[in-house]
Amino acid sequence: MKSRDRLRIAIQKSGRLADPARDLLARAGLSFRESRDRLFCYGESLPIDLLLVRDDDIPGLIAEGVCDLGVVGRNVLDEQAEERRARGQGDAFRELRTLGFGRCRLSLAVPQDWDWRGPDMLAGKRIATSYPQLLGRWLRARDIDAEPVVLSGSVEIAPRLGQADAVCDLVSTGATLVANQLREVEVIIESEAVLAGPAVDFIDERAELAALLLRRLDGVLRVQGSKLVMFQAPRTALPALMRLLPDAEPPTVMQIDGAASEVALQAVCRQAITWQRLEDMKRAGARGLLVLPVEQMLA
Ligand code: ATP
Ligand code: ZN
Repeated sequence: MKSRDRLRIAIQKSGRLADPARDLLARAGLSFRESRDRLFCYGESLPIDLLLVRDDDIPGLIAEGVCDLGVVGRNVLDEQAEERRARGQGDAFRELRTLGFGRCRLSLAVPQDWDWRGPDMLAGKRIATSYPQLLGRWLRARDIDAEPVVLSGSVEIAPRLGQADAVCDLVSTGATLVANQLREVEVIIESEAVLAGPAVDFIDERAELAALLLRRLDGVLRVQGSKLVMFQAPRTALPALMRLLPDAEPPTVMQIDGAASEVALQAVCRQAITWQRLEDMKRAGARGLLVLPVEQMLA
């Protein structure tokens, strides 16, 4: 690994992952000298720069050491990892964090008029896909001999064009499949955007920068959707109240001046605090309920 004192993160230049990736980095306190149209953004708040590229190039850029980290779909990362293994190359990148956006699945879909009775039906069939490695691995695990037809785009129209019998493609809502008279029958992998990094640890200044970035990202990912719940209650009501907050971090309990049996309590909750939950808490003895959004958290 060549020595460098700035960290370089590759993200998608344009497409589904581009804006969420930039938002996430911004929330982690990273700012850049803007150049959306060009390839490189210079990091201003920290020595962390951005490279704007095609998502398919990201694993390779990490493998070559051109970039240190990347935001990419697990589908792309896993496909290219399998490809390296098939070529007898060692692991060059790995998934460091899941990022919670870009959710989709790589699925098998067949024409709607097939009477689906299980994966064995695929034996001897042609399956159009942009993910031949992941499809191949799935078929091998089930001992099914099918023929992958590798297409780089417009996979879902292949059956109608007579190029293939079935498809293995990315699905989020399923609307594209339906529009092409296809039915999703098997999920090959569940995917979302991940932060990818090299298989080996950084040895120079980048080690500390990467650790700092990961700590901040963990904070950002943890607070997403979290709420701070504050209320007062008789001490005796606490067990019942905590049962209504199963997703809470261990709460802070404070004594209220001049009221020995009363406490004030605050707890960070991971899930939505619904009106129903607040009403249940009130019935269980909570008073002065306050729910606040959490902006930042540093463990
Ligand atoms: P690029 O020009 O960067 O190669 P692309 O066309 O390959 O762009 P997008 O369509 O923007 O890329 O998809 C990027 C990633 O978004 C996918 O690899 C996948 O991880 C994720 N994604 C989420 N939902 C979907 C979906 N319904 N279809 C395709 N990709 C999806
Ligand atoms: Zn792509």
